[in-house]
Amino acid sequence: MIQTDICIIGAGPVGLFAVFEAGLLKMRCHLIDALPQIGGQLSEIYPKKPIYDIPGFPEVNAQTLVDNLRQQIAPFKPTFTLGERVDGLTRSEDGSFIVTTVDGTQVKSKVVVIAAGLGSFEPRKPELQNLERFEGRGVTYMVKDPETFRQRRLVIAGGGDSALDWTIYLSAIAERVTLIHRNESFRGAPDSAEKVMKLAEEGKIDLLLSANLQAVNGNGVVKSVSVVDKQKVVKEIETDFLIPLFGLSPKLGPIADWGLNLDKSAIEVNTVDYSTNVEGIFAIGDINTYPGKLKLILCGFHEAALMAQRAFEFVYPSQKLSFKYTTVNGVNAF
Ligand code: FAD
Repeated sequence: MIQTDICIIGAGPVGLFAVFEAGLLKMRCHLIDALPQIGGQLSEIYPKKPIYDIPGFPEVNAQTLVDNLRQQIAPFKPTFTLGERVDGLTRSEDGSFIVTTVDGTQVKSKVVVIAAGLGSFEPRKPELQNLERFEGRGVTYMVKDPETFRQRRLVIAGGGDSALDWTIYLSAIAERVTLIHRNESFRGAPDSAEKVMKLAEEGKIDLLLSANLQAVNGNGVVKSVSVVDKQKVVKEIETDFLIPLFGLSPKLGPIADWGLNLDKSAIEVNTVDYSTNVEGIFAIGDINTYPGKLKLILCGFHEAALMAQRAFEFVYPSQKLSFKYTTVNGVNAF
């Protein structure tokens, strides 16, 4: 079991900055995110978009902001569990929380901070019979570690940026990549689409356009997929993996069942310290709601600062906190 002071659910910009604010007060953090990378919406939805409303940055690219946050929190040595969705929350006898992920990782902490943004990004799945039976047995909806696919046969399905980018990347390490897309043209970046077409022309990948997945076949593990083209001809492709990349949609998921006061799918908080109605649980960033709430990164940063001041009382109940500027505290806290 991982032990820490604060368990932060969500490694978006707000969860990341909370590590900095907690670190200044000598509180250690462990972050959990359902996505395989940090950065939340910035890295997942708009990595290349410029942002103009971060104080001190007239313009900053979304992924650069995430990279800078990573650098800013590094002195506080946060630890991460990525690619695992938080599923459960219980309280142990000593009053600590135990946060559990779908993959069974457990984190024990005195404080839980929910920085879950729009919720957990869940994969959009193709409608195929028995698909669930093959999940984790050849069917996967995200690429956590590309090495898993070295020298293996892959079928990737989709026409957006993820499908194109992973086809290009994995074609260099997999035994064979087949990309299936239901249309004639791609939704993803034209440059990536061009690269994929070139790989197909050079015979480095198999490309099936205007084709749809029809079935996953196998006995316990994936052995092949059946694909139907627009002439209704069915083709069976032998493969070790099927990776449908049809995009992600956010869902609040199990957090909705934790006894927190909710307004639609946002968590109600007290704006004095961004605490929820459950002692020791805070909610910051896009996930919370209060009168006047703005879903902006800079608002989430402010919420993280106030949350940390109050969280200190749970982590160090016998100590008195005196406010200091960063120039006094320094950032090399651990
Ligand atoms: P998020 O960035 O949503 O991160 C939350 C993280 O929590 C996600 O990574 C998610 O996977 C994870 N998570 C959720 N549930 C679970 C769970 N159960 N288990 C594990 N992990 C979980 N804001 C600005 O200030 N300026 C802008 O210019 C701007 N432009 C935008 C443009 C677009 C297209 C969009 C969509 C948003 C924009 N925003 C902008 C809004 C900004 O992106 C959000 O305010 C910000 O991302 C909120 O950060 P967050 O850390 O609260 O949540």
